[in-house]
Amino acid sequence: MAKRDYYEILGVSKTADEKDIKSAYRRLAKKYHPDVSTESNAEAQFKEIQEAYAVLSDTTQRSKYDQFGHEGVQFNGAGGAGGFEGFGGFEDIFSSFFGGGQQRRRDPNAPMRGNDLQKRMTIDFMDAIQGIKKSIRLDVSEQCNTCHGSGAHSKSDITTCTHCNGAGVVYRQAQTIFGATRTQTTCPYCQGTGKEIKRKCDTCKGDGHITRERTIDVSIPAGINTNQQIRLSEKGEPGVNGGPNGDLYIVINVRPHEFFERHDNDIVMELPITFSQAALGDDIATPTVHGKVTLKIPAGTQTGSRFRLRGKGVKSVNTAYTGDQHVVVKVVTPEKLDSEQKKIFSKLSKTNEMSSSAWKKFTGIFKD
Ligand SMILES: [Zn+2]
Ligand SMILES: [Zn+2]
Repeated sequence: MAKRDYYEILGVSKTADEKDIKSAYRRLAKKYHPDVSTESNAEAQFKEIQEAYAVLSDTTQRSKYDQFGHEGVQFNGAGGAGGFEGFGGFEDIFSSFFGGGQQRRRDPNAPMRGNDLQKRMTIDFMDAIQGIKKSIRLDVSEQCNTCHGSGAHSKSDITTCTHCNGAGVVYRQAQTIFGATRTQTTCPYCQGTGKEIKRKCDTCKGDGHITRERTIDVSIPAGINTNQQIRLSEKGEPGVNGGPNGDLYIVINVRPHEFFERHDNDIVMELPITFSQAALGDDIATPTVHGKVTLKIPAGTQTGSRFRLRGKGVKSVNTAYTGDQHVVVKVVTPEKLDSEQKKIFSKLSKTNEMSSSAWKKFTGIFKD
């Protein structure tokens, strides 16, 4: 039988976000859970829903599925939920559904650290060189102060789940092609916690945490480069049962500069000079990321010549090392000459202007 499309199974669009997928899954799981469902074929449907959710709720699996279809996400039916770790409490339901598998049961009441989050931040070139403090506004999840994370209106509203008598699991007889089997599944009423909340906390609606917009100061160190990241401890997704939040990683993207080009800790810059400066030599005030410095250009400098300004590059973000600035000289030919300048140039052309070694070599090879 051909496998159905995972998005179709959950009744969500291909662009559905995490939230849509979760809520679609919750709705369908309630409807088709074999313990409670009156639908015919509930078990097969439920299995299908579980599988679709396991894949679509996992970013990596989902992108594989989007690219390669069912082939991309080899689904391990008989061998347990191999490769599908990381969907918390549902893991249990999962492995028991596919028979065998590990029966490793995570205590749903144990504190669990939240997931890490990642955000991108774009900063200016010079800010990356010098370092900068930035304030960002972020939605940060915090434990609800009203219920202290329990999600209940009051302590007395937390009672033992009547469906599993607090065990967090229910047992079920099933007829399979191998005969009758007894399987253990996580209690669908309490999601394995063994507890039931009679009245939910008004502040957090039973979530145990609330999302608050916070301004956070981010210290961006001097020398940071594109794709390096800064960790903000415990500013990620909320933990469960009093566990700490995950971390937030800020991935840096540095805007390019008009004149400075960065190569690791070195800077390369093209410096336009005049014909006269190239011919006669000059002391040129050259911009660097640390301000202007004097660069001595010797007489007879050719276009494309490179000069090194030691220690005028970027400070390494991890060590005390500072890179260099490489200056590539570009001789700019004058475009408009006034009559005085024209006279000078024509006078110059009548002199032995092409006396450089390069010209001698050139005319030596191509003499007729
Ligand atoms: Zn609350
Ligand atoms: Zn229960």
